[in-house]
Amino acid sequence: QKPQPSDTAIAHSFTPKTIGRLAREVGLFSEEVEQYGTTRAKVRLEALNRLKTQPDGKYLVVTGITPTPLGEGTTTTTLGLAQALGAHLHVNSFACVRQPSQGSNFGVKGGAVGGGYSQVIPMEEVSLHLTSDTQAVMAASSLVVDTINARVLSELTQSDKALFDWLVPLREGHRKFSLSQLNRLKRLVIEKPETLKPEEIYRFIRLNIDPETKTLSGSVASEMMAVLALSTSLGDMTRRLARMVVAYSRKGRPITTEDLGISGVLATLMRDAVKPSLMQTMEGTPVFVHTCPLSDIAQGNSSILADQIALKLVGPEGFVVTEAEGGAELGMEKFFDIKCRSSGLHPDVVVMVASVHALKMHGGGPAVTAGSAMPKEYSAENLTLLENGCSHLKRQLENARAFGLPVIVAINTFSTDTDAELGLVCEQAKLAGAFEAVPCSHWAEGGAGAVALGQAVQRAAETPHQMNFLYDLEGLGNLPICMAKTHLSLSHDPEWKGVPTGFTLPIRDIHANLGAGFLYALVGTTSVEPQSPAFSCFHDNDFSTESK
Ligand code: ADP
Ligand code: MG
Repeated sequence: QKPQPSDTAIAHSFTPKTIGRLAREVGLFSEEVEQYGTTRAKVRLEALNRLKTQPDGKYLVVTGITPTPLGEGTTTTTLGLAQALGAHLHVNSFACVRQPSQGSNFGVKGGAVGGGYSQVIPMEEVSLHLTSDTQAVMAASSLVVDTINARVLSELTQSDKALFDWLVPLREGHRKFSLSQLNRLKRLVIEKPETLKPEEIYRFIRLNIDPETKTLSGSVASEMMAVLALSTSLGDMTRRLARMVVAYSRKGRPITTEDLGISGVLATLMRDAVKPSLMQTMEGTPVFVHTCPLSDIAQGNSSILADQIALKLVGPEGFVVTEAEGGAELGMEKFFDIKCRSSGLHPDVVVMVASVHALKMHGGGPAVTAGSAMPKEYSAENLTLLENGCSHLKRQLENARAFGLPVIVAINTFSTDTDAELGLVCEQAKLAGAFEAVPCSHWAEGGAGAVALGQAVQRAAETPHQMNFLYDLEGLGNLPICMAKTHLSLSHDPEWKGVPTGFTLPIRDIHANLGAGFLYALVGTTSVEPQSPAFSCFHDNDFSTESK
């Protein structure tokens, strides 16, 4: 087999159609489309309103087994399947994927969305700023931080240092507040005397300050991203933002962005970000790339609005393929119990991505680490490791089937997989209750390599099925639960592969994200700080040297 060119080289060998043409092809009116350059556009929510009486298309969710740290191709399969349905089986199809967050984008997996011949193009645009939604979220969370910080600074006397020590400095000299800012903050207090006294606010919650670098990270931004992805309209987003608890008063009373008088400004900052961004695959299939809630501490799924608009656009005979990040016990469980609960949508089919080398890892193969070569167990046939690892596939199939839908196993094939290995995985998957199991080669061949998967999906979508949730909401605040756990194991310990049993799942703490609308349970040592890789993938993925 001849080696395949790099993802970047492949992406650059395709020319996208103009976004105006794509928007027309999918049935959008020109006034519903806001173009960003020639290959990206935001879709206005008026489109959903116009189409609200149209029946939805079929709704497919793509999940996976527990991956190796390199990723096992769930996104690539989401795009490959959408290409197969749209460009080869000639039915309307749409893919909905998360925007790569810059944390993982600059991480180990490459800068693109998808890989090989199943990617979103242009890759530079989808990998970096896209339509600046992340920047809007960062601006909104900075506003929260600045508001609280300014309030605290203006309210405390300089001698009262004890209260400052974990609050400021963010970074010595970095935060300065103008007189007008401070005056505005004082006015806010006068305007809302019934809810808040100026001396009441004294600290942040869940606004983690890294003690080493004294920089702020993630949590407010992370809840805002979760809000953005779960909102079903601009009004819904505004209400969710207003409910977010961002501080506690000195007496321990929760303080929301509404109490601070900034919820309206936050919604204004994010009003464009709530519109899904339209792009395309290299075969011209439409894709919504929208929002990037983390898959461990948040719900790990792309936005509800993208799925809803896509389901209307494809029509009742069409298909929307959406990706749930992480394995079936993580992103897919959250997809059903959190995302589908908010959206009211019920999917028709689950596609579970498995790869031979991830299964070998679960069967006892050596650790796979980013940046080093795959151990030889993974490149030569080894049916013993693979058969052991199939117990993991069986467990994840049980997890997926618990929701009542047909589950198709898509084996994302790598060039080193043998026929005997692929045959074994298919056999084991069917024994474990998969509707069908299909090897696919969309990474090497584009949509043509996933036609059999597309046909299996069409068959499965015709079978009668009834989706159910795993638990009902009676209990703490009637909110669903988001398990904040590692995606690298079914357990809380990323080193435990296969099917770990006989352990107690340690829950360190439970937080409420009242804006997003879920409780999140911190499992084991999961950190709410995004983990930055020591070596960014962009060292290997320099667009500037490869671009035409
Ligand atoms: P996930 O969504 O599961 O994290 P991705 O689809 O993002 O995984 O793929 C992760 C990386 O693996 C990408 O760089 C992609 O190019 C590569 N990859 C995916 N499928 C294959 C395959 N069949 N053969 C070789 N590389 C692949
Ligand atoms: Mg992915």
